[in-house]
Amino acid sequence: MRIVLLGAPGSGKGTHAQKLVAGHGIPQVSTGDLLRAELKSESALGLRAKTDMDAGRLVSDGLVLQIIERRLEKDDARNGFILDGFPRNRTQAEDLARLLAEIEKPLDAVLLLDIDMEILSKRLTGRRTCSVTGKVLNIHFSPQQDLDACIAAGGELLYRDDDNEETIVNRLDVYEEQTRPLIEFYRSAGLLRVVDAMGTVEEVAQRMQEALNS
Ligand code: AMP
Repeated sequence: MRIVLLGAPGSGKGTHAQKLVAGHGIPQVSTGDLLRAELKSESALGLRAKTDMDAGRLVSDGLVLQIIERRLEKDDARNGFILDGFPRNRTQAEDLARLLAEIEKPLDAVLLLDIDMEILSKRLTGRRTCSVTGKVLNIHFSPQQDLDACIAAGGELLYRDDDNEETIVNRLDVYEEQTRPLIEFYRSAGLLRVVDAMGTVEEVAQRMQEALNS
């Protein structure tokens, strides 16, 4: 199964991609994670991406295509993949279509995680990772006992470098201007399935599964 998860930053793409990985045995391919890994290893590609990532802007299409091509060639992606955070603009969507046409493996579906902008903003500004357990939490939504458990374990609640308010505003603007038009692009291609992304993780996961079965 070859799926694209489409949705604004904070709509839950990462969380739900991981759920689909567990249920379908195909890898999650997140360009954000791949870029962060490049940054961490201080590769030339990572260093070229850093300024744009820190500012919440899109990294150049050529660079992203390069990491996607490299990733989709790996063995574990042979039976399918869940694309998370790619494509993010029209050029990338066309690049992806071309790439998949070449290997005669077109997309099966594009799931749009549809969510209210106000909730989105709280999800992004409140997102923290526990420095000890690595668990992703939210100061607005996580149960207080989960937040306390991190502190009790000697951890700190850290936020991602690009989860500061200025960068968040930029990332949401970029989504509106460049990524949202892909909804129509994929609707016209007959691939779009809209999923209501509000509710618990389990509820949304169930709706996604139904959308994939439909
Ligand atoms: P994410 O973790 O998906 O929110 O991505 C974090 C950052 O990585 C984004 O704000 C961009 O700077 C960069 N990035 C991730 N995916 C892409 C992409 N498909 N095209 C361009 N930049 C990307």
